[in-house]
Amino acid sequence: LSEGLLSIRDLPSETTDGFRVPLYANTGLVSDIRPSIHSGAEGVGLYRTEFPFMIRDRFPGEEEQRQVYRQVLEAFQPRPVVMRTLDVGGDKALPYFPIQEDNPFLGWRGIRITLDHPEIFLAQIRAMMKANIGYNNLALLLPMISSVGELDEALVLIHRAHRELLEEGEQVILPAIGVMVEVPSVVFQADRIAQSVDFLSVGTNDLTQYLLAVDRNNGRVAELYESLHPAVLKALIQVVEGAHRHGKPVSVCGEMAGDPAAAILLAGMGMDSLSVSSSSLLRIKWVVRSISMQQARSLLDEALQMDRPELIRERMNAALEENG
Ligand code: PEP
Ligand code: MG
Repeated sequence: LSEGLLSIRDLPSETTDGFRVPLYANTGLVSDIRPSIHSGAEGVGLYRTEFPFMIRDRFPGEEEQRQVYRQVLEAFQPRPVVMRTLDVGGDKALPYFPIQEDNPFLGWRGIRITLDHPEIFLAQIRAMMKANIGYNNLALLLPMISSVGELDEALVLIHRAHRELLEEGEQVILPAIGVMVEVPSVVFQADRIAQSVDFLSVGTNDLTQYLLAVDRNNGRVAELYESLHPAVLKALIQVVEGAHRHGKPVSVCGEMAGDPAAAILLAGMGMDSLSVSSSSLLRIKWVVRSISMQQARSLLDEALQMDRPELIRERMNAALEENG
């Protein structure tokens, strides 16, 4: 990291007119813990639990998982850690759980798998809740939710795990629960979903892919994959409005939050926090500290008048340059 960026590590992530935009880290590997803490992250906004599952040759058991999760919660406490339940399928494969499908991104992935296999889901939730005993910095995040029915099913299982652990004499608490907004149907139901949970977190990697019908990993259509597309920006605004109508915080944990041009727009929309890879965190903090909320809002207004992502990007880059 450059000296210049390191010098702002311990300074608050706030705009020049005093609006806080807390920055969290995305992690998944135990080796990510140190760089995340070193980057000055206020916590973990997305802990991808796929990694501890990928590096094994079978599903890790409850106790095995508990130890991994506890290490992460311990390293960051008292800072919050948002742990996402297993999100395999799509582009994330487990060698010991092969899935053969014509359209993996539209198929069996994320919460769809774990609702079909409640034993996998329950073991993971139990492991997380037990890992959280004494720290109480855990929040749960549900991936690939596409309907209220799926959310309700997941909530029933989470409450069941909590109740059963209490009956077993474990001193567990019910953590905050959030939903990932990454399927377009949830954009249009953000208001309704926000009523049932404690927070929303937008997964712009998948949301962009599904809104624009562009495979996030296909180089041939990579030019069409653009998170600054006006439709994506409008979707994000709708999510913020839906969440805030019920007083629930909303964050962005997709790669978009680590893009300086996009981060300004996300701040202007009123996103309550951003979660980025530890390698982009200080750069984004620098961006936040270089603008006023007033400026971010007026740049967003300007962007919303534009039809082409490349013009939006140009305008944002010009603003970044003006600010030094
Ligand atoms: C996303 O979809 O934006 C996201 C953060 O999750 P993942 O990249 O793990 O699918
Ligand atoms: Mg995703």
